[in-house]
Amino acid sequence: MMRNRAVFSRACRLGRMMPYRSAIRNFFFPKVCVFCGGVPVRSGRAKADSLCEDLSVCAVCLALLPFKLFTAHEIPCLSNAYESDPIPGFSVLVPFRYEGEIVSALRALKFNDAPYIARTLGYFMATSAYASGRSFDAVIPVPLSTSRLRRRGYNQAALLATEISGRLELPCLECFLIRTRSTRQQSRFVDPGLRAANVRGAFAVPEEASVEGLRILLVDDVFTTGNTLHEAALALFRAGAADVTAVTTASGRDDDNEKGFMTSDLSGAKKHRFAR
Ligand SMILES: [Zn+2]
Repeated sequence: MMRNRAVFSRACRLGRMMPYRSAIRNFFFPKVCVFCGGVPVRSGRAKADSLCEDLSVCAVCLALLPFKLFTAHEIPCLSNAYESDPIPGFSVLVPFRYEGEIVSALRALKFNDAPYIARTLGYFMATSAYASGRSFDAVIPVPLSTSRLRRRGYNQAALLATEISGRLELPCLECFLIRTRSTRQQSRFVDPGLRAANVRGAFAVPEEASVEGLRILLVDDVFTTGNTLHEAALALFRAGAADVTAVTTASGRDDDNEKGFMTSDLSGAKKHRFAR
């Protein structure tokens, strides 16, 4: 009993000391904004400061991010659904336009060994999924091919899915969708037919896994033509999933002109300057 009281009293003392310890740690090793690398200045508004601290984003960058209107988050997966499309109602939730710091963030996540950015981006994707009002049973990332996974060291979609599953308190079933063959990077193809053919039949649910009756939130980093997401969703539906909705960080589709896609490589985008 005495020992319990001593432990409790020590825990209380430690609890009181934590803000001081955290202040000292922040003084010597300040958290920096993942977008600009600057040390975030507190605005004095508790809610905003807490969000910025949680996401490692400064208030200035947060205000400049290319958010889409909530009412425009949901877009059809294939705008030019091809004949006999097996899942014409399949849609994608997208919180950002593909521009500015979001382009840099996605490039850094994908090509510059910056997995920590998934934590920030995943928050906004989870918010989009929550705001959609849909119910989900599990989160599944679009898988990478084994060779690309070996080269990169991580699957950026899986990092985003892990963050989203934590925020939404859903299981992340990373191994429930696999690539059955290697595909070339979709951005290498301009012709829509070749892009579709490149990923056709490239995904499957392994025999030992079951998605029967599940409502799935399918996660990828960026949404362009929708061919990859469409094929991944098709594999889940064929394996018995009750519903599939996708979520990506941004849409590379030209929102102002739904007739086409942005096919440029956005070479004018700022070079990434992300903090470690
Ligand atoms: Zn910043």
